[in-house]
Amino acid sequence: MREPLQTVTRFAPSPNGSLHLGHAFSAIFAHDIAKQAGGRFLLRIEDIDGPRSRTEFVDEFRRDLEWLGLEWEEVPPQSTRIDSYRAAADRLVERGMLYPCTCTRKEIEAIPARRGADGLVYPGACKGRSLKPDEPAALRLDVDKAMAELGELVWTDEKAGSVVADPREFGDVVIVRKDLPASYHLAATLDDAADGVTMVTRGMDLFAATHIHRILQQLLELPVPHWHHHKLLLDEDGQKLAKRRGSPSLAERRESGEDGLALAEQLRLQHMQSGT
Ligand code: GLU
Ligand code: ZN
Repeated sequence: MREPLQTVTRFAPSPNGSLHLGHAFSAIFAHDIAKQAGGRFLLRIEDIDGPRSRTEFVDEFRRDLEWLGLEWEEVPPQSTRIDSYRAAADRLVERGMLYPCTCTRKEIEAIPARRGADGLVYPGACKGRSLKPDEPAALRLDVDKAMAELGELVWTDEKAGSVVADPREFGDVVIVRKDLPASYHLAATLDDAADGVTMVTRGMDLFAATHIHRILQQLLELPVPHWHHHKLLLDEDGQKLAKRRGSPSLAERRESGEDGLALAEQLRLQHMQSGT
């Protein structure tokens, strides 16, 4: 008989700025789901955006999580996994699922395009174009081609239930960036599989990204986890907390002597009341 899967969750911050209350909430959320199930809670540093990543934030994050009373296992950061991103991108290229795009942001903004889940949907201007040698290009997923080949895909969210993957919300997303070996979508999808994550928890703001991740899992024959997209913490004016200007970082709160355990309890309570 197969052993039931142990629950594995993760918190995956990018070290390009301090953590704020919204991050604390996300981390506690992932932590508690794992601990309540007797599972594992992982910390993964998403540091492939080299120029924007700074190691001092990584130490700060660890101190923040400790201050909140969380226990975690740290898995290798993204910067050590570049080879796996390259190998996966190569597989997708071999399957004909990626095409090079040389458009600049300005060029993309100049093409009439519809608005999707994450801003303007790239209208596929470079599809079928051939590349000049040495021309720097990003690689985009040919969503129509992938969907035609894969057929209907379903994924499960703890709140939303069964969801039919609709990547057209996003359009032909960038899978390999011009300047980096992977985009967030490719790296996070591969890492969650490599780390054995069974329940991907993150804010509702990334709900639509999951359509893309589900396709990548299918194309790359990766295991399919469950997802739990949680509500975003809002401040008194109903604004996204993370965006609130001038709200103190976790590090600032910690250094000012605030009780991290009490803050964590307060966030848990708030979550229960809002039925996240
Ligand atoms: N590094 C991403 C972020 O901080 C992680 C998103 C995710 O949990 O998939 O937004
Ligand atoms: Zn293009």
